[in-house]
Amino acid sequence: MLSEYDVVACRRCRAPIWWAVTAAKHRQAVNAVPVDAEPDPAGRLALYRDDTGRLRVRTLTKERAELEHAEVRGMAHAATCGRPTAPVAVAEPEPEAAASAGRLVPDYIVDIPIRWHR
Ligand SMILES: [Zn+2]
Repeated sequence: MLSEYDVVACRRCRAPIWWAVTAAKHRQAVNAVPVDAEPDPAGRLALYRDDTGRLRVRTLTKERAELEHAEVRGMAHAATCGRPTAPVAVAEPEPEAAASAGRLVPDYIVDIPIRWHR
């Protein structure tokens, strides 16, 4: 079951997000929705809590396209996060950026604590 207590705000666009963990142990930002709201039907992620309460995520694939067990549909935040209106020219990546290039989560998605707005 999803929870509203671990919702954080994307530092870039302020949208509420959850952090979930993929099978490969990567962190992935997922658009948070109130627990009683309908999930985004366009979402291609399946969310569930594992035995330790950690929010896990998998991508709905052609082979496993349906939600299973207690999974809830979710939308990757990177798919909807506000983007720059003008192209950003990047000459050379910073060493830190290069080191994180393989990460699933863009650097601009940073979690900060928020309270859910009702
Ligand atoms: Zn965002």
